[in-house]
Amino acid sequence: MARKILRGIPVSAGISIGKAYFVNRQKERRIPRETIPHHLVAIETQRLRNAVEEVRQGFMDARARVPEELKEHGAIIDSHLMICQDPKLVESAAKNIEERAITAEWALERSINAIGKAFSAIDDPYIRERMQDVRVVGDKIMQALIGTPKPVDLPAGRRVLMAHDLTPADAIELELSKIMSFATAEGGKTSHTGILARSLQIPAIVGVEDLEDSIRDGDLVIIDALKGLIFIDPSEDELAHYGDRKYQFEDYQKAIVKQCHLPAETVDGYRLEVCANIELAEELVQVKDNGGEGVGLYRTEYAFFNKSNMPDEEKLYEEYATLAEQLAPQKVILRTLDVGADKLLDEQAMLDEANPALGLRGIRFCLRYQNVFRMQLRAMLRASVHGNVAIMFPMISGLKELRQARFVLNSVKSELDAEGVAYNPDIPVGIMIELPSAVMIADTLAREVDFFSIGTNDLIQYSLGIDRTNKHVSYLYQPLHPAIVRSIKFVIDAAHKEGIEASVCGEVASDPYCVPILMGMRVDGISIAPQAIPGIKRVIRQIDMEECIELLGDVLTHATVSRINTKVRKRIFKRFPEELSFFASLIEQDDITEP
Ligand code: PEP
Ligand code: MG
Repeated sequence: MARKILRGIPVSAGISIGKAYFVNRQKERRIPRETIPHHLVAIETQRLRNAVEEVRQGFMDARARVPEELKEHGAIIDSHLMICQDPKLVESAAKNIEERAITAEWALERSINAIGKAFSAIDDPYIRERMQDVRVVGDKIMQALIGTPKPVDLPAGRRVLMAHDLTPADAIELELSKIMSFATAEGGKTSHTGILARSLQIPAIVGVEDLEDSIRDGDLVIIDALKGLIFIDPSEDELAHYGDRKYQFEDYQKAIVKQCHLPAETVDGYRLEVCANIELAEELVQVKDNGGEGVGLYRTEYAFFNKSNMPDEEKLYEEYATLAEQLAPQKVILRTLDVGADKLLDEQAMLDEANPALGLRGIRFCLRYQNVFRMQLRAMLRASVHGNVAIMFPMISGLKELRQARFVLNSVKSELDAEGVAYNPDIPVGIMIELPSAVMIADTLAREVDFFSIGTNDLIQYSLGIDRTNKHVSYLYQPLHPAIVRSIKFVIDAAHKEGIEASVCGEVASDPYCVPILMGMRVDGISIAPQAIPGIKRVIRQIDMEECIELLGDVLTHATVSRINTKVRKRIFKRFPEELSFFASLIEQDDITEP
């Protein structure tokens, strides 16, 4: 038996066996006195400045809250604010980072110590006491720094990455070639880090209980990202079992890839369009290799996470035009920037919203910061002459927001007209349906767009009131909840009534238990991680539409999600008993068993 077996939520299917390496432990509150590679110096300096800004903002807020009768005590906060803004502290720390190539924490510590030394030489008790204030401020900045994960440089060799949490922005900075799989203590079923892992074909488990206390760097671990299990110091038997299982999984993948270019057509001739969701242009190879029929969702925000290479209009235009050209005549749906929630840009992190998932996210951010939005729309429109490009707005909550977004789009079109720049004037414009309010007015929205793409990841989050990144409520994240099934059906019906297409691009579309139900609703297409395409196409090719319609009818008669799950599991499992063991399903969590 392994020394310990941990459980979590499998979010990217696969198996891996290797040595663990931790990149950020929450419990680790020590000052990292480490050198950093030169190419990270600018990012490290920015971390320092962000931390100082965060603390400065905190002092400003605190000062604003001091009641009238205590106003004289506000002076203490003022003095802290002054220290925070004092270039001697911040600039000397920044200089330390640059000259010594060390972490921001270590640089800050050195600067505070240096100031301390200088103060102690002064023979004035009042001035010496002021050093105490410098320490208070320094401590606050240190806390802010330690609380934010620092960029990591992985050791040589491939590792099983362990982290307290990993945002997509952190993940994008990692050298992915060195990561064979990863596990995090935080995270939920459809958190974006899991989605990224699927796209990059890295087995991943999130929301792992006791991860930080149980695993040390260098421990040998087995990651079973089919069932959501981690074996620490596995036994010979477990290693042998998982060695075989890994090969079985890889053999299955090889076998299904051979058939991936066949159309996704049911036994009785119902044809479904299966496109890919991608985050990075480099994934295009995988889309083609896995039989994708286009890109149904390009999550454009990922290009903005590359801090050392922030995109401008030209860069974006090149990126989108290359995608369009390489995919043509297949389509590529470019979704406008959907930052926010668990995909924060540094500027947004500064806003320090209490509930970023309910905050300035997606289209709201774009409508607020229209310079970014316009720049992106210009790049998209210019790219539209190179292929079959469509534009899609995320997080639309109502008609007014849609009209505002379209207004900006039209104004960008006029700008290009005036400049004589070519674009496709009939470029299709669609929206994501991912908020309950959009579901309820789907009929109205359908009259003003060319297509719908149902984003179930968020639709489930916002309809059931469950943070999709929160492991504590992950058990409530149920794609077949009657409210969700009805919502999706309502949207598809509304779209068809208005003569537009509705597809699904959330993770449910790559779940073999859910796809037949979507098909029963006559969904027009699905868009999923490239890696998931061969398996889902194969499932579709083995069922018939009549069966799907009947299954949906049955599902709609049940009032509880557990009853629906049991029914669906039984029916689908009977059809594909072996294959299903190679999928990490969204609805299977209570079935986890050890090998
Ligand atoms: C969704 O919400 O279902 C979706 C596809 O978008 P994202 O996962 O990027 O939020
Ligand atoms: Mg979404």
